[in-house]
Amino acid sequence: MKYLFFINICLLTLIGTALVSCAQNQTISASQGNKPTDTMTFDITKSEQAWKEQLSPEQYYVLREKGTERPYTGKLLMNKEAGKYVCAACGNVLFDHNAKFDSHCGWPSFDREIKEGRITTVLDKSHGMLRTEIMCARCGGHLGHVFDDGPTETGLRYCVNSLSLEFEPVATDTAQPATDTITLGGGCFWCIEAVFQQLDGVISVASGYSGGKIKNPTYKEVCSGLTGHAEVVQITFDPAKTSIDEILKAFFTVHDPTTLNRQGADSGTQYRSAIFYHNAQQKQIAEEIIQALTEQKVYDNPIVTEIVPYGAFYKAEYYHQNYYNDNPGNPYCAMVVRPKVEKFEKVFKNRLKNKAH
Ligand SMILES: [Zn+2]
Repeated sequence: MKYLFFINICLLTLIGTALVSCAQNQTISASQGNKPTDTMTFDITKSEQAWKEQLSPEQYYVLREKGTERPYTGKLLMNKEAGKYVCAACGNVLFDHNAKFDSHCGWPSFDREIKEGRITTVLDKSHGMLRTEIMCARCGGHLGHVFDDGPTETGLRYCVNSLSLEFEPVATDTAQPATDTITLGGGCFWCIEAVFQQLDGVISVASGYSGGKIKNPTYKEVCSGLTGHAEVVQITFDPAKTSIDEILKAFFTVHDPTTLNRQGADSGTQYRSAIFYHNAQQKQIAEEIIQALTEQKVYDNPIVTEIVPYGAFYKAEYYHQNYYNDNPGNPYCAMVVRPKVEKFEKVFKNRLKNKAH
């Protein structure tokens, strides 16, 4: 936390003697934090290039280059919602909201990890201080530091960069509507994502990969066709506002379910039409809709959409998220994505966000 170090130096200069604020140069117990970084091994290892492609430049700076975000700027600093804090690089669940406290140090602070072993420590001698660095034990991503001046019974203060974390809210009140999730592959995920972002009741849409053989594939690996993944979107929605039925009708409106491993000019198994169902009800509704579309002869050719159980979803590189909205000038967006979005807007005109009644 180099800015605090800077402030500490200023304080030292000003008051000359005792440096008491923030105790940034203390380390925790001697048994921890004594492993050299270069001999550490992690379950998830990727090339720096792959990390660069997956993470935003700011996340890469903090997680992979051990940088520090400016104090009081992190998006999660003031977050008081109930939920879990996961590693922004690999999704490892690190902290629970119950462990978060306001330390007034400018970074999100926690008094314990959610489960022993989720975080690994290493002695950090940089910036002329002796500190205990904390890293995600699964991917080695830099999180921040841990200090032994915490105000609770653990005595610890995990001082963590917001950029190293993602927050996953949970519904605490059973009266609140529960959310539901489905995972769909319908060709290039840029198209499908852009459509579902507009449907009323959809809470979030993430582009990623499902149905393949390896963990955490990169876009390049998926495009090779060797991993078996399909480009998919993971849709989280409010069942009180939309339904699996409506989501699947939108899905069949905006892609061609009759072309095997192909959507338009995009060819390969990663473009296959697939429904990754999360429960038996989703499977049944999917089968019923396909049967109805077949009986009504909506398409000239047989529907080849796979209906398969959901296994895992790996979020795609950050630049694939929100692609259509962020890249309106891209020729693919103009020629391929926009017509699908426009078709969706026409058919579902009363069901678009902000316009639905
Ligand atoms: Zn991680």
